[in-house]
Amino acid sequence: MARAPFEMAGVQVQPGTRQTIEIPVAKLYTHTPLYMPVEIVHGRREGPVLMVCGAIHGDEIAGVEIVRRVLTNSALRHLRGTLVAVPIVNIFGFVHRTRYLPDRRDLNRCFPGSESGSLGGRIAYLLRTQIMEHVTHIIDLHTGAIHRFNLPQIRAELKNPETARMAEAFAAPVIINAGLRDGSLRAYADSLDIPVITYEGGEALRFDDVVIGSGVKGVMRVMRELEMVPPRKGRKTPKKRSEIAASSQWVRADIDGIMRPVAKLGQKVRKGQKLAMVADPFGESETAITSPCSGIVICVNNLPLVNEGEAIYHIARFDELSEAEKAMDYFRSSFEAEVSEAVVPMHPWDELQK
Ligand SMILES: [Zn+2]
Repeated sequence: MARAPFEMAGVQVQPGTRQTIEIPVAKLYTHTPLYMPVEIVHGRREGPVLMVCGAIHGDEIAGVEIVRRVLTNSALRHLRGTLVAVPIVNIFGFVHRTRYLPDRRDLNRCFPGSESGSLGGRIAYLLRTQIMEHVTHIIDLHTGAIHRFNLPQIRAELKNPETARMAEAFAAPVIINAGLRDGSLRAYADSLDIPVITYEGGEALRFDDVVIGSGVKGVMRVMRELEMVPPRKGRKTPKKRSEIAASSQWVRADIDGIMRPVAKLGQKVRKGQKLAMVADPFGESETAITSPCSGIVICVNNLPLVNEGEAIYHIARFDELSEAEKAMDYFRSSFEAEVSEAVVPMHPWDELQK
């Protein structure tokens, strides 16, 4: 029996075809209608319905490129199930190059939203009623905030075994067993029992080939794990691709000044090891900022001008640090080619090239 067409916003997508659907979001003051574009790839055979979404924070643009590259992957010709790609959830923020909505709300705190609420509530309502409630799995793509560069990592509530399976399959070097924040897409999806993982990598308003490449590979690996696309022949999966962090800790500057980073992204650091130097502009004083714990550097602040109390490094702690190092080694080895061919400055990745 042929598979039923996939329906969204009054449009039917036939099995074995793909289609872009424009979901009406709101009208601008100019009377111009605004749409959220969604690409549906509807496989011929029954299977999971996976939503992959980006830019719920409007300036976190790497996810948009990850979605674009996934959609060009030839494996989708053999798709089982349905891929629902939403490259830009926060259309307003994306246009204005900002994390937030025009009323300064954070769309990722507006779920489940309501039909008659503020703009954020309405977009959240639209996303959940039109899309989220019709999918079986979700991958939500994020980056660090502006000037903060995240090591590729997965955040997930690992109590749900299907979520844990997706997190493991994605194979980012670090997995953070992260609690659910009220009002977030992830918390709402989890409340519906939809397995959901968040990918974090890179920084806002920037592209980085390793971050984007790792995101694309991760999404495809999850699709292979869910048997939505065929396995890759002759590929052996290495034993250690990810390690789950026991906890993570932000390190704050304890003095104002100009920061010179010492520790690099992905680097192993020991408790008390120097992470950065903060100096005053006259060179009269220089203070070392040291790591409060042993772990792996999973976020680096790239803006050298720091105020006292500002978060400048994020360190993930592990029960077995050597296992986390193995996962980092695998990650480095799988990106050697990309790192050397990168067209953008790769300073956060110097450490990866050693
Ligand atoms: Zn984000």
